[in-house]
Amino acid sequence: MKKWKCTVCGYIHQGDEPPEECPVCKAPKEKFVLLEEENVSKWRCGVCGYTYEGEAPPEECPVCGVTADKFVKVEAEVRIDEKLWQCTVCLYIHEGAEPPMFCPRCWAPQDLIMDMSNPKPIPDQNRPDSTDETEADILVVGTGAAAFAAAITAANEGKSVIMLEKSGVIGGTTRRSGGGFWIPMNRHQKAKGIDDNKEDAIKYMCRQSYPQLYNKDLEFYGLPENEYKLIEAFCDNANITVDFLEGLGVFETIEDINWLGKNQVDYQSNLEENKGIRGRILFTKNEQGLVGYGVVLMESFKKYAKKHGIPVNTHHEVTKILRNDQGRVYGLEVKTRAGMKTFQARKAVIFGSGGYTHNEELMRNFQRGPIYGGCATPECTGDFIPMAAQIGAKLGNMQGAFRAQCLFESKLANPNAANNCFFIPGDAMFQVNKYGKRVVNEKRNYNDRGMAHFAWDPNKGEWPNQLLFLIADKRTVELWEGFPPYATTGGDAKYLIKGDSLDELADNIKKRLDKLAAHIGSYRLDESFADGLKETFKRFNEFAKTGKDLDFHRGDYEYDLEWGSPKPANPSVEWPESMDKNYTLHPLSEEGPYFAAILGSSTLDTNGGPVVNENAQVLDWDNKPIDGLYGAGNCIAAPSANAYWGGGGTIGPAMTFGYLAAKHASK
Ligand SMILES: Cc1cc2nc3c(=O)[nH]c(=O)nc-3n(C[C@H](O)[C@H](O)[C@H](O)COP(=O)(O)OP(=O)(O)OC[C@H]3O[C@@H](n4cnc5c(N)ncnc54)[C@H](O)[C@@H]3O)c2cc1C
Repeated sequence: MKKWKCTVCGYIHQGDEPPEECPVCKAPKEKFVLLEEENVSKWRCGVCGYTYEGEAPPEECPVCGVTADKFVKVEAEVRIDEKLWQCTVCLYIHEGAEPPMFCPRCWAPQDLIMDMSNPKPIPDQNRPDSTDETEADILVVGTGAAAFAAAITAANEGKSVIMLEKSGVIGGTTRRSGGGFWIPMNRHQKAKGIDDNKEDAIKYMCRQSYPQLYNKDLEFYGLPENEYKLIEAFCDNANITVDFLEGLGVFETIEDINWLGKNQVDYQSNLEENKGIRGRILFTKNEQGLVGYGVVLMESFKKYAKKHGIPVNTHHEVTKILRNDQGRVYGLEVKTRAGMKTFQARKAVIFGSGGYTHNEELMRNFQRGPIYGGCATPECTGDFIPMAAQIGAKLGNMQGAFRAQCLFESKLANPNAANNCFFIPGDAMFQVNKYGKRVVNEKRNYNDRGMAHFAWDPNKGEWPNQLLFLIADKRTVELWEGFPPYATTGGDAKYLIKGDSLDELADNIKKRLDKLAAHIGSYRLDESFADGLKETFKRFNEFAKTGKDLDFHRGDYEYDLEWGSPKPANPSVEWPESMDKNYTLHPLSEEGPYFAAILGSSTLDTNGGPVVNENAQVLDWDNKPIDGLYGAGNCIAAPSANAYWGGGGTIGPAMTFGYLAAKHASK
């Protein structure tokens, strides 16, 4: 059988003749060339996994838009019996006869999950136009939540705007996110009579972001003045930002009602300063009138930009900030496919270029705890940090990140995808370290759980929790199938380690770690692991019988019982057995098999970078604003520091500071 290659997108057709039209990119028959078998190599896109056959990789991936340098040659094809499916949002790979109903990583619906043997370009019907202009009042870098909030606000202040995006895909990490935004004192709370007020909200944020400084009796609650003012600026403007965007018709917001019919609590709902206030997280309403995730938020932004003529230039990587003799930022140097270009900003440049999760050097230097990448989009390489540092910007919160545990082996196999475990579903399960000991309340929020890996043992000179092992019984793995880190039906069970008894499980975990030796430094199971695991099993099962976790208080908090406890995958299963008992705990079966998954710490994205003031102006080392330079989102020193205030705690501030930047820059 002859092989024909589409010269536009690289699609390979097998047959005596080329097809009339390329099924991927619609190029006509004439664009196909006959392939000489011996010259053909296989190339896999390192970002989305798309496979291309040809002498050299294609100039641009037809699926995710990255350039040829992101392709790697596939030396030997791994034999795969099942079909491969990939989520076009978070790049999760599913193996099975059918695609899953929802992506188990990012909850993108089935129509965004594609068959990798017949890949299609990512749907992009709302793509805004690009521009040949190289001058505007305001240049915006990036196309995530921070950048779009800034661009739309500036355009509505009557300013001309050009958005510059490094990737071929619009939307950054925001596109692959849950898309929630944390907005204290929002209109839905007011309509319901939920009493949320500035003083309480600020106290909660200060306490959670700076527990080591917080003192309710001191000025600024003990925080340095700028850190306090950032929190106050967020609190004062978060609902104004969302009302403004909603008023323009960018999106309609919807509150998040959980499976118990309640508005959601915050991530440290048990703190005294929180007062159990509910309903601060909002989402974008989707076409069905339901909660829409990051894809819906991003498509709303794109649609608005397209309709109102805000241009977005993709494949435009900003590489340098230009400053005149008076120190004013007047433009940017940008790498494009046509070569380097200079863009001029008559008023200001606003960065919304994301964190540095995919910059190995910055990760090694600033994220000192044992950490394994993160689920940010691969273009989040911290580009703003050296560019801003070169012109004298002060850096802050460089060790910071929004965090989560990740499924370690999945992360190794596909480092650019979203492999984070936001929740640990199920009741008959616990996590142990290399000694077989529990170290954390498994139902806590992902950010705080992510930090449990950073405990240091000064006697042994080691991170005893560098990796943690999730242990579950068969009932749990089956009831919550499809929820990461458990397998989807017929799915990635290869990441689950099985043992018919606890001893066998311990032995198999040890063997798995031996295989992973190249990736885990000196971390190995201690000799006491199997005994420790059996003791933990016994103790946990006693807690489960009484409903009291005496070690980590799992289930004592509203967060654990609501967010942390999703219902089983099969809706017909009666769970929990009783609402009157602590249903976060259930004894593990005395009979095997048992399952384990290896978890590491990772980021959603980092959140350190140039320090800004309450107008989102970047400051220099004398705390003076650098004229014409602004930043918002994960590319700046986060106003929240290491805290995740509640669901949406990253996108809420990103949009708000994007809005504040544009308002100030437009004056
Ligand atoms: C699966 C998942 C679920 C999540 N759920 C939530 C949630 O529900 N709520 C929440 O608050 N947070 C959530 N997060 C985190 C959230 O997505 C991010 O913190 C947030 O979207 C960051 O927004 P941003 O605007 O700062 O940056 P991004 O959305 O990352 O956008 C940055 C953009 O800048 C571009 N860029 C980078 N460098 C350059 C350059 N040199 N030149 C030009 N462009 C450049 C990038 O390509 C990218 O498009 C989630 C994350 C993931 C992965």
